[in-house]
Amino acid sequence: MANKISFDFDSTLSESWVQELAEILIPVTEVWIVTARSPGQSHNRDLYKIATRLGIPKERIVFTDGAYKWSSLNHLGIDVHFDDMEDEILEINNRTGCKGVLVGLKDTQELWYLFSNEQQKED
Ligand SMILES: [Mg+2]
Repeated sequence: MANKISFDFDSTLSESWVQELAEILIPVTEVWIVTARSPGQSHNRDLYKIATRLGIPKERIVFTDGAYKWSSLNHLGIDVHFDDMEDEILEINNRTGCKGVLVGLKDTQELWYLFSNEQQKED
């Protein structure tokens, strides 16, 4: 299991199915949010609301302010990063030891529901 996992916010952790995935990972790993958004309380109200609900502390929210994320992920020592932007994933997988996982595709979401339904059957 990876020690440090991060999620992009827009079209990634903002989605309820990705939040379900994060809820499973949070008790067993160190979960971060790494977003290309700019810092600032008022326009990040949605992000902070979801982070608070999931129990991700403010110290684990990183704003790259428009920059590609690979450098921050490298610096933080993130093992796995989830993102909906294909070019971010390419940069991450080419430049760092972090595994970039693309979550923007609809089939990833369908795969998740298939997996979580199977899990519920087993429980
Ligand atoms: Mg995004």
